[in-house]
Amino acid sequence: MSRFISSIVVKTRKNHKCFGCRAIIPKGTKLEVITLVEDDIYRIRTCEVCKEFEKLLKAWEFEEFFEGGYPEDERWQEIKRKLEEIV
Ligand SMILES: [Zn+2]
Repeated sequence: MSRFISSIVVKTRKNHKCFGCRAIIPKGTKLEVITLVEDDIYRIRTCEVCKEFEKLLKAWEFEEFFEGGYPEDERWQEIKRKLEEIV
């Protein structure tokens, strides 16, 4: 069971991989960093598209969706297109 520690909005100082779709989040991007503790400390960075997607799902569904690395999946591409129109 992971424990939520904090959520802060930062401007990234280097490139990061999105926790969800694994896309590169370029440095200088403003994003929310969520810190969790589960044995170790984890910092979760999510791109704008995934952030919107996450709002549509419960957290466990979001994690499950990306578990097998879905970015190439057609379903994901479709969702991504729709979300990109929003953000
Ligand atoms: Zn993403």
